[in-house]
Amino acid sequence: MTMLPEGQLYIDGTLRGAEGGKTYADISPWTGEEIGRAPDASAADMDEAIAAARRAFDTTDWPEDHARRRELVLKLGNALKANREKLVQIARHEVGSPMGAVHMAQVDGPLAFIDDLFAIFDAIEWERPMGEKVVWGVNSTRLLIKEAAGVVGVITPWNVPFYITVGKVIPALLAGCTVIVKPAPDTPLMGTILGELAAEVGFPAGVLNVVTGEDPVLLGEMLVTDKRVDLISFTGSTGVGKRIMEKGADTLKRIFLELGGKSAAIVLEDTPDFATAVAQSIVCFHAGQGCATITRLLVPRSRYDEAVAVLQATYAHYDTMWGDPEDPTNVMGPVISARQRDRIMSYIESGKAEGARLLHGGNIRTDKGDGFFIEPTCFVDVTNEMKIAREEIFGPVLVVIPFEDEEDAIRIANDSDYGLSGAVRSGDPARAMRVARRIRTGTVGINGGVSIASDLPFGGYKQSGVGKEWGLEGFDEYLETKSIAIAA
Ligand code: NAD
Repeated sequence: MTMLPEGQLYIDGTLRGAEGGKTYADISPWTGEEIGRAPDASAADMDEAIAAARRAFDTTDWPEDHARRRELVLKLGNALKANREKLVQIARHEVGSPMGAVHMAQVDGPLAFIDDLFAIFDAIEWERPMGEKVVWGVNSTRLLIKEAAGVVGVITPWNVPFYITVGKVIPALLAGCTVIVKPAPDTPLMGTILGELAAEVGFPAGVLNVVTGEDPVLLGEMLVTDKRVDLISFTGSTGVGKRIMEKGADTLKRIFLELGGKSAAIVLEDTPDFATAVAQSIVCFHAGQGCATITRLLVPRSRYDEAVAVLQATYAHYDTMWGDPEDPTNVMGPVISARQRDRIMSYIESGKAEGARLLHGGNIRTDKGDGFFIEPTCFVDVTNEMKIAREEIFGPVLVVIPFEDEEDAIRIANDSDYGLSGAVRSGDPARAMRVARRIRTGTVGINGGVSIASDLPFGGYKQSGVGKEWGLEGFDEYLETKSIAIAA
C-alpha cells in the first residue's frame, strides 16, 4: 500500500507539527485505509497563523513590492511544476483520482494554468490617472490605485483541491495579500505540500500559512469570524457558504463564494450527431464530484426514446471502464469517503421513492475495491420537481428530463436554485447562442465548448456563489480600489 509522507503545518515561516503533536489519519478513497497522517491543528495554531499573516501584511513591504512578489510566487509556481510527481501521488491516493482525471483537472490542468496567471498579473492596471476636476470649487488631480485586499482566509473543498488552491492562492499572493490556507479535512496533504514548497523557495515569514485539521468547522470558522482576516475566499457547498456569509457579517469582511451547482445540458432536437451528444452527457468524470458537472440532461420529448436507448447502451459499455487506478484513460474511481458514499446512496433511494426510473447503476460496488465505489447511475423519467433534480448529489448520478420545445428547455434549465454552468447543443449556431444567453449561469458551453480556462472568469449566479475565480476578474477579488485626490 502506498504511504504518503506526513504533512506539516506552515505557520509564520516555520514548518512544524500541530500543538501537542496531534495528527489524524488521511484515508484512501480506493481502499478505505490510512495512507498518511496530517497535523490536527488547534485553535492556538490557527490563532498564530492569523497573527503571522496580519503582521506580514501590516509590517512588511509584501503588499507594495510587486517585483519581489512576482519573483517569489514564480519560484513557488516552478517548484510546484518540479514536484508534479508528488502532486500526482497525492491526487491519486488522497483525492482518489484515476490517472485520466489527474491529467485533467487534478494536477496537469492547474499546473498548466499557472503561467497564464502571471500574464494576467502583468496586465493589471495598478494606477489609473483620472485627470483634474473641479468639484465643489476645489480643483483636484485624481488617481485611482489598486491595492491588496489584506489578509485572506482560503477555505477549500476536497474534490479538486489543487486546482482550487492554485486558483485562489496564486492570484491572492500576486495581488499582495497574505494568505492562510485551510484545506478540506479529507485532503490535507494537497494543502501541506504548498507550505513545504513555499518554505523551500524562501517565502517571507507569515506571507503564506497552511493550517490543517480534522474538525471540518473549527479552523474555518475562526478565519470567518476573526476581525484580523479581511477576506474569505471559499469554495465548497452552498450550505456552508450561507453559514460563512452569516458568520462573516459581524466583522463585515469581504466574502467570496464558489458554491455548488445542478447544471443542465440542453440537447436540442436539431443537434447533428444527437446520439454522440447524448452519450457524452453521462456523468462519470471524477465520479461526478465536480461543481460544474452537468447533472441534468434535458432532451426533446420528440427524441426521448432515442436518447434513453443511447444512454442505456453507453452506460452498459462504460461499466467495465471505470475503477482501475492504473488505467491512464480511466476518469472515474471511488467517491471521497464513506460519508459521501452514504449521502449519494440516500439520493439514489430518494429518486426511486419519488418514481424516477433507474436506467442504470444505483449500487455500491465492493468488487471494484475496499474503498468507496458507486456505479455510474442514470435516472430517466425525472421531473424537475424531484429532489434528485433539485439538489446537488455530488456523485456519479445523471437525471434525464424531457422538454416540449426550446422555451420549455430554457424554463427547466433555469428552474433551479443554482446557476453555475450549463451546455447547449444544436445544429444551428445562432439558435444555440440564443439559448445560451438565456441560461442564468456563470458559464455555458456550446456544442462541446469548454468554458473553463485560466483566462476565463468562473463563478456562479444565484445560490452557486458570489464573485469570480480565474481571469482578470479573479484577481479583482483580492484587490481594493482607492481614489486619491490632490488639490491642484
Ligand atoms: P463543504 O462545504 O462541506 O466544505 C468545504 C470547506 O469548508 C472544507 O474545508 C470544510 O472544512 C470547510 N467548512 C465546513 N464548515 C465550515 C464552517 N462552518 N466555516 C468555515 N469553513 C467550514 O464542501 P465539500 O464537501 O468539501 O466540497 C463539496 C462542495 O464544494 C460541493 O457543494 C461542490 O459543488 C462545491 N464546489 C464548488 C466549486 C466551485 O468552484 N463553485 C468547486 C469545487 C467544489
